[in-house]
Amino acid sequence: MAAAIAVVPGSPVEPISTETVVEQLGALPAAVSSSDPRPFIREDKIRTGESLASALRRLGVTTHTVTTQANAPKLMRDLAGSFRPGAFITVASTAEGGLQSASLSNAGSDIEHVIQVVDGKLQVSQQALAFETRIHMQSGTVQSSLFAAMDAAGLPDSVAESLSNIFGDDIDFHTDLRRGDRFSVIYEVQYHQGRAIRTGRILAAEFINQGIRHAAYLFAHPNGNQEYYNQDGKSHKEGFLRSPLEFSRVSSGFSMRLHPVFGTWREHKGVDYAAPHGTAVRATADGVVEFVGQQNGYGNFVVLRHRDKYTTAYGHLSGFAANLKTGTRINQGDTIGYVGSTGWATGPHLHYEFRIDNIHQDPLTVSLPSAAALSGASLTAFRNQTSALATQIAHLQQSKAVFLD
Ligand SMILES: [Zn+2]
Repeated sequence: MAAAIAVVPGSPVEPISTETVVEQLGALPAAVSSSDPRPFIREDKIRTGESLASALRRLGVTTHTVTTQANAPKLMRDLAGSFRPGAFITVASTAEGGLQSASLSNAGSDIEHVIQVVDGKLQVSQQALAFETRIHMQSGTVQSSLFAAMDAAGLPDSVAESLSNIFGDDIDFHTDLRRGDRFSVIYEVQYHQGRAIRTGRILAAEFINQGIRHAAYLFAHPNGNQEYYNQDGKSHKEGFLRSPLEFSRVSSGFSMRLHPVFGTWREHKGVDYAAPHGTAVRATADGVVEFVGQQNGYGNFVVLRHRDKYTTAYGHLSGFAANLKTGTRINQGDTIGYVGSTGWATGPHLHYEFRIDNIHQDPLTVSLPSAAALSGASLTAFRNQTSALATQIAHLQQSKAVFLD
């Protein structure tokens, strides 16, 4: 017997009326019939030191012929490394403890391996995971570093790296971040069987850096190209990245620009970025390789030409990206080499130059060519696609501000 009390809400001056509902529950089935064809599904992670046979037993498979076959070397080969500690295993078994199927998948992987019994033998097949995409929203405030703020907000590193790429034309994430900077992000998370497997695209983001608001919305052009635009429909991709260094958890701590060994940038003709040996160096804009090789004090050196009059140069590299040759086309953000200390350098750092018509400019203050805004039908399509996201971002930022106050 179960009793439930339904409460009718009323104002405090009125007597609150209550009603008691009594319901007789039927007897629970004592056992599941062994002829029930529905499988029992159990899932867990593979434990350290556990064999496939013991995992199957732990998750309900008792059939001896199955468990004796489960550790065969050929089966392990067919599973291609997907059986390992921490892998997700989902086992469907019959009421008698027979195996219907078992599937193994690993975090970040697009595929799963499925084990089934075919003619009494265990067989492995591989299939693409069916993902379900859900939209997540999150915001945070920078207290010490972007990665600390991401951790506090429960966001994976990939989101921080994506934000640094998306806003790379507006913000140098190595040097511009300040305590109190705020961000909001709306992004996709791909789920498989209710588990978050990985993050997908960032659909919209806002970054308030030193009091200045930067927004980005992903816009899908009719031809399928997807690109980030600000609230006015200006592309974040055209133009130049503010920093030639990849932003990562490792490199993010190295926010200090080196002071030139002597003089100002005018004599030095560039900016030096301290960074760990091996940090990826990226092209700050689309372009073509004009020089790759060694050049006296510069050590391993790359020069890129962008459109007609702009060139960027990258010195002291420990090595170059594979297949980098004079004439190679490069996209903005592509890795062209790695931080090192070749040539005239006392420690690992990147020497970066920016030239207009072969005249050196200070990369930190030069006004960079800005993108033309979308117009006409494209702008209308952009507004239609992104207005709901803009509203959500605004709400997210407001609720965060209220919460912080
Ligand atoms: Zn230098």
